Amino acid sequence: MPGSLRIGKIFGIDIYIHISWVIILVLLTWSLAVGWFPVLYHGFSAVTYWVLGFIAAVLLFVSVLLHELAHSVVARARGLPVKNITLFIFGGVSNIEKEPGSPGVEFQMAVVGPLTSLLIGVLAFVLLFLLGQYSSALAAILWYLGLANILLGIFNLIPGFPLDGGRVLRSIVWKIDGNLRRANGLWLGFIGWFLLSSAQSANSEVMLQSVFRGVTVSEVMNTAPTTVPANISLQKLVDEYFLPLGLRSAFVIQGDRLAGLITLSDIRHVPREEWGQTPVGLAMIPRDRLHIVSPQQSLNDVLPLMAGRDVNQLPVVQDERLVGVLSRDAIVRYLEIRRNLGLEDGQKAA
Ligand SMILES: [Zn+2]
Repeated sequence: MPGSLRIGKIFGIDIYIHISWVIILVLLTWSLAVGWFPVLYHGFSAVTYWVLGFIAAVLLFVSVLLHELAHSVVARARGLPVKNITLFIFGGVSNIEKEPGSPGVEFQMAVVGPLTSLLIGVLAFVLLFLLGQYSSALAAILWYLGLANILLGIFNLIPGFPLDGGRVLRSIVWKIDGNLRRANGLWLGFIGWFLLSSAQSANSEVMLQSVFRGVTVSEVMNTAPTTVPANISLQKLVDEYFLPLGLRSAFVIQGDRLAGLITLSDIRHVPREEWGQTPVGLAMIPRDRLHIVSPQQSLNDVLPLMAGRDVNQLPVVQDERLVGVLSRDAIVRYLEIRRNLGLEDGQKAA
């Protein structure tokens, strides 16, 4: 391939880097340094994120090289001359000069690449497990490398020629009908592109998830919500609570238990001349029609409820007692405070 630079020789096979691969190295380092690592790991310095990004990108490059070497070594062992391996923007190419002569050889040559990636991935996870802690720089790299290689292995096994999975499938079809279809002999990895785009799209989701990871409802809720008794009249509710306090809704309490929610529109549904005789408990939305959360629930579990139901506030109940209210405002405030404290590097970068 023109524009390629020879960087060395392994097992007698020339290894080339195409100029386009440098672009992927830079992009990958950048996306890891400002996206992936800051989102998943808090508290490192900016320099550390860049060093981590670079090391992880280079190690991914080594992983791809090992994947291609596996193809080439098996090919050569089966009597197919291997000219070289070139790493370029879409991953790696093993330039093997002849098509395999039998479906068995094709199968072995193809399957060994993804197996190598899966093996590296498993190895990284085993090392991470042995390391025993998951928040250090080393752990961050092992986790990324493990994930990337497992994805790489799985992605390459999907039957889409010219990826490895396509060759595995072709070898099986070939074995069955005994007839080699002519096809492009290149083995493409599509790794850089694949990992880059998947890492980017995962970022925004991972970002919110990671901001709220380990945060419970009790940490964000308002612990002193305004409540109203169930037995007062609507007239008293309007005169003593809604108008003076500027409320649009309030949770209704009976004894010390949550009984329901009363809103402006519930009040409007009762004719004004009946306000004096109608108790709040009769006009409110009863408790069993409300969605209730507990203080120990994680915010990540509760957020979809709010988004999906177009609910602005959720009562937080423990042992039948209203202990707080989780509102959209409170969540936004929580995010703002964290951002002002500089706790959200990942969010700004993504
Ligand atoms: Zn491959």
